[in-house]
Amino acid sequence: TDAVRPLIAGNWKMNGLKASMTEFEAMLRGAPDVLDKADLLVCPPVTLLASFASKASSFGQEGRHVVSVGAQDCHKNVSGAHTGDIAPEMLADAGATAVIVGHSERRADHGETDAVVREKALAAWRAGLTAIVCIGETQGERDAGKTLDVCGTQLQGSLPDDATSGNLIVAYEPVWAIGTGLTPTVQDVEQVHKFICDRLTERFKNEGPSIRILYGGSVKPSNARELMAVPNVNGALVGGASLKAADFLAIAAGC
Ligand code: PEP
Repeated sequence: TDAVRPLIAGNWKMNGLKASMTEFEAMLRGAPDVLDKADLLVCPPVTLLASFASKASSFGQEGRHVVSVGAQDCHKNVSGAHTGDIAPEMLADAGATAVIVGHSERRADHGETDAVVREKALAAWRAGLTAIVCIGETQGERDAGKTLDVCGTQLQGSLPDDATSGNLIVAYEPVWAIGTGLTPTVQDVEQVHKFICDRLTERFKNEGPSIRILYGGSVKPSNARELMAVPNVNGALVGGASLKAADFLAIAAGC
């Protein structure tokens, strides 16, 4: 009975071609059946963003998309000499309403630091996008008992000041749980989400408790209900299982 409305966000990573529109259409068709449980967001590769966003508009109800569309990364600048990069203003122009920043794969593959992630989140806000900021410990850090320290440091460094429930979503994604089929125990998820909620409330006062905190890492239909019932879990960031409409919608139905 959390007061915060859950969000199920799909991260397609580097998957999807034009033919994937049929899968996205299946999500749009099924969405009305689960919208009493959760909001839905799909983050396809940037090549599909504009076509997904315009398809989503054509399925909209009373001007609201049944599935929102987001991006997986952005540059911090508005424009300029940054070959291959995409400005958040471009993502908004293509129909995105949110952008994931600081995903562990970006942190690992592209050396993104907390300071870089913070600048990207600020840039997302400048363009009117909600920033989905990802944090989470590695296996080694968990084994060393440093999970809360690591998450606390990432939160402090990656989140800009002036976060609100409208402009920020936090995703707790233990690195060792991403794409592995492994998940933390519900007790461990509860502990970290409580910790994040407390930090957000300390820092952002009244806004803190209504900032959504998503769990991510090997969420699938068979474990979603249990994970989504954990206190302070306000939805999920879903990788692999977000590629199939049936799985994605079943996860939302478990909220
Ligand atoms: C992710 O990369 O955000 C993720 C949670 O992946 P998966 O669901 O495949 O573990």
